[in-house]
Amino acid sequence: MSKMNPETVLIAGAGPVGVLNALGLARAGIPVTVLERGGTVVRSPRAMVYHWSTLDGLEGLGMFDAAVQRGFLKQGYTYRNFKSGEKVSFGLQALEGRVKHPYNLHLGQNDLVEIALEKLKEFDHAQVLWNTAVTGVSQTKSGVAVSVLRDGSEDLIRGSWLIGADGAGSAVRKSLGIDFDGLTWPERFVATNIRFDFEAAGWDQTTMLIDDRYGAIHSKITTDNLWRYTYCEDESLPVESILERMPEYFEKVFPGLAGIELDGYSPYKMHQRAASGFRAGRVLLAGDAAHSTNPTGGLGLTSGLFDTYVLYEALAAVIKREADDEVLDRYAAERRRVFVDIASPAATRNKQLVYHSSDPVKLEAEMMQLRGLLSDRDALIQRLMFPKTLETPSLLESAKKGIQR
Ligand SMILES: Cc1cc2nc3c(=O)[nH]c(=O)nc-3n(C[C@H](O)[C@H](O)[C@H](O)COP(=O)(O)OP(=O)(O)OC[C@H]3O[C@@H](n4cnc5c(N)ncnc54)[C@H](O)[C@@H]3O)c2cc1C
Repeated sequence: MSKMNPETVLIAGAGPVGVLNALGLARAGIPVTVLERGGTVVRSPRAMVYHWSTLDGLEGLGMFDAAVQRGFLKQGYTYRNFKSGEKVSFGLQALEGRVKHPYNLHLGQNDLVEIALEKLKEFDHAQVLWNTAVTGVSQTKSGVAVSVLRDGSEDLIRGSWLIGADGAGSAVRKSLGIDFDGLTWPERFVATNIRFDFEAAGWDQTTMLIDDRYGAIHSKITTDNLWRYTYCEDESLPVESILERMPEYFEKVFPGLAGIELDGYSPYKMHQRAASGFRAGRVLLAGDAAHSTNPTGGLGLTSGLFDTYVLYEALAAVIKREADDEVLDRYAAERRRVFVDIASPAATRNKQLVYHSSDPVKLEAEMMQLRGLLSDRDALIQRLMFPKTLETPSLLESAKKGIQR
């Protein structure tokens, strides 16, 4: 059995949610160990847009400046009807003077994780164990025991609490027998990272390309012309021949643009699912381990970040006996409610619009609503404020009152 300070908080998964929770706890003086199955940070194309409302939280973790330095800030959105060519563009400028950060951050998810890992190195009481896959979890009233496969050997690691941040296939969630309710979509998403100077060719920095065949999200990831182009195809098509089908999408959507370089791609199964509970005793679920959504509109990690900002703060307070552990039940209930009632339905609507707008009457109604935003400032502001509704404010004030009773 590995020796470990029994006060250590264990975190399964060195994805963004695991590592940012680790950083938050480490900054609060709590010993923390991250257990990661892989040998390095996962680099497949995933999140790259961080909505304006998540940026205060990055600032709270001391990551904002480094993230902006490595990525870039942008304000505009374009919706483009592929068949008619109509474009409707608007931007976060409308939030200037109302919110602290009236812009989104664009940054590869792996870069966000690397920045957090760099910061984590400043704390002697924080460590990451790579090549360490969680295989099972048990717990008592006073602690957790996590079975792992570490460099091929079985081991048992003990700690005080466990955060399951091991992604949608979470071994932590499965080991506890927690259901992952919802549905799996019958389409496959193909996320590609491509290099080209699309702005010079007239493309805006983020385009939602609406079409029932060539629907896609096209968005700039870095200032050196790395872009994300995510399209969708039938899940029954063979995954092995994605590369053979891919050029057709580029030829149709970017006609006449020669020399688009494929930097990487990854196929994804998509779900709308939530764990039936986000807390089981001393184990808390966060990020994709707790909820999984299709990525249209970038609400997946947005939800995971909002889990993180309230979770590390509440757990640190419980460990320091500044709050009753009831606050963690409220974490579980509130974050599940926000995902199920707000984030997941919105992501489903986004997917429907971008990839499945086959009914011309419904599509025209959607386009009319988008056009309407250009002349109705209140409606525009209401729409742009949406990512704020995914946030849970600090759970601590009422928890502190609870402990004084
Ligand atoms: C194409 C695409 C584009 C997206 N774009 C956006 C976007 O722009 N904005 C947005 O907000 N969201 C986006 N998302 C969603 C976002 O990528 C996820 O919500 C995010 O990755 C969740 O982070 P996480 O840390 O919870 O889980 P993950 O990123 O899945 O990390 C889980 C980690 O746990 C590790 N792990 C797994 N099993 C074990 C185990 N048994 N033991 C130990 N470690 C384990 C994995 O190796 C991994 O490192 C996108 C997703 C996709 C697929």
